[in-house]
Amino acid sequence: MEIIAKEDVKLKSKLKEVFGYSQFRGNQEAIINNIIEGKNTFVIMPTGAGKSLCYQLPALILEGTAIVISPLIALMKNQVDQLNAFGVNAQFLNSTLSKAETNRVKKETISGEVKLLYVAPESLTKEETLEFLRKAKISFVAIDEAHCISEWGHDFRPEYRRIRGIIDQIGDLPIIALTATATPKVQLDIQKNLQMDEASVFKSSFNRTNLFYEVRPKHKTKKQLIKYVKKHKGKSGIVYCLSRKKVEEIAELLKVNDVKALPYHAGLDSHVRMANQDAFLNEDADVIVATIAFGMGIDKPDVRFVIHYDTPKSIEGYYQETGRGGRDGLEGNCLMFYSYDDIIKLEKFSKDKPVTERDNSKLLLQEMASYADSAVCRRKQLLHYFGEAYEKDCGFCDNCVNPKEKFEAQNEVVMALKTVVLTEQRFGFDHISAVLVGLNNQYVSSYGHDQLEVFGKGKDHDIQYWNSVVRQVLLSGYLDKDIENFGVLKITQKGLDFIQSPHSIQLCIDHNFDEEVAKEEER
Ligand code: ADP
Ligand code: ZN
Repeated sequence: MEIIAKEDVKLKSKLKEVFGYSQFRGNQEAIINNIIEGKNTFVIMPTGAGKSLCYQLPALILEGTAIVISPLIALMKNQVDQLNAFGVNAQFLNSTLSKAETNRVKKETISGEVKLLYVAPESLTKEETLEFLRKAKISFVAIDEAHCISEWGHDFRPEYRRIRGIIDQIGDLPIIALTATATPKVQLDIQKNLQMDEASVFKSSFNRTNLFYEVRPKHKTKKQLIKYVKKHKGKSGIVYCLSRKKVEEIAELLKVNDVKALPYHAGLDSHVRMANQDAFLNEDADVIVATIAFGMGIDKPDVRFVIHYDTPKSIEGYYQETGRGGRDGLEGNCLMFYSYDDIIKLEKFSKDKPVTERDNSKLLLQEMASYADSAVCRRKQLLHYFGEAYEKDCGFCDNCVNPKEKFEAQNEVVMALKTVVLTEQRFGFDHISAVLVGLNNQYVSSYGHDQLEVFGKGKDHDIQYWNSVVRQVLLSGYLDKDIENFGVLKITQKGLDFIQSPHSIQLCIDHNFDEEVAKEEER
């Protein structure tokens, strides 16, 4: 007991001494202890919750050098600069270093001076890097942004999938994987690929209680945007657009409307890009209009709004980006403009990708579209997507503040659940809805599902209606998604109970944005 207590004191004093913080946040202390004990550790924490500290502090305490694998050069530089400012010897190895600099970093690592060595996965795979790392004393390997491992995420980086093999070539080292994006599916994929089934998993709640979520139809968007930004005049905000051209256009639009806005995208000269980023961080500019490349590792606590001018590619991406708002725990407004045209456009982008990748991005886009269309509490939907149960409505999103009328859906829920059971729990939304509507498509008939008693029982409504019902049934925990077979719906015990003894249940009707826009036009 006493030893543990002493260790705790040591950790706290190190936290204060190096980083200047008096308290650990959330799971940090437990995670750090786990790493110090040399155990494999899997950390799932929302953006801004303080993941970096989880490996930075143990790196300082343990003997030797910790390797940190990080996907972006800008991200590495940011962290290394910050650590150096704290008086910690942290260095990076990537393509930006000269031969002489590389040699110096290697020398300092072998002599044990470097406590944290940041490397890009591309550098890690080089034979010369491996040879050098075998000579150094390595304490553990941290894999930051570990969702890059998963093909099911939004940031897949093929070279990330080779990391485990490379670590094994360096030695028998503890691994700590960290990510802010873990749907249960991505989580499973990361653990499998890193062969860390036995790892201690620390998953924090993804609920960002201070963020207000709102979705609006993409209609007269420029006018809406200007009005919104002006309402938040003088406050920091990010506007995400999908293309560089759009970024330029919107930054210009805001400028001519007296908003201190600057563009940020990969097509800009790196000096301009850096200058614009700095201007935003130093508050010389209020708004940064950016492609999604912006924000990874950017640590600005007082971003008051995050706007998605274009519909995002996935809920993971959307959540990560909105997560950059209100990091200080104060106000954060997240506004997304949605149009189904955007979804179709995005689908076309992945036309030339390999089939699995294409199918996956299509699924992610479908999830995005259903999120936008749904009148269910946004927070409930988001947290459910990340595998977290959230029973009540949050009262702090557009759908909670302006609720749509609900309808009694006891019969519909029973029908949906029965259809899942009768089709042997092997299908997703579209199939279940097709059976209910009585659509005799190729799949329905080839499985003989046109012979089921539920076939056509819901023909008074369309596929969309039933998709919406089934989603809400899923959100309420009567169904579950099969993690291994993305999209396949299974019935839960709660669902079976409902079929046995149904009760009154209220569901929402999806938004009809076309109708809303038409009404708006009339006004
Ligand atoms: P993440 O990687 O999870 O997005 P960061 O590691 O960048 O988050 O941390 C977010 C912010 O929280 C940083 O400014 C960091 O310095 C700060 N932070 C981390 N841990 C603590 C702590 N224990 N007390 C106070 N601030 C902290
Ligand atoms: Zn809500």
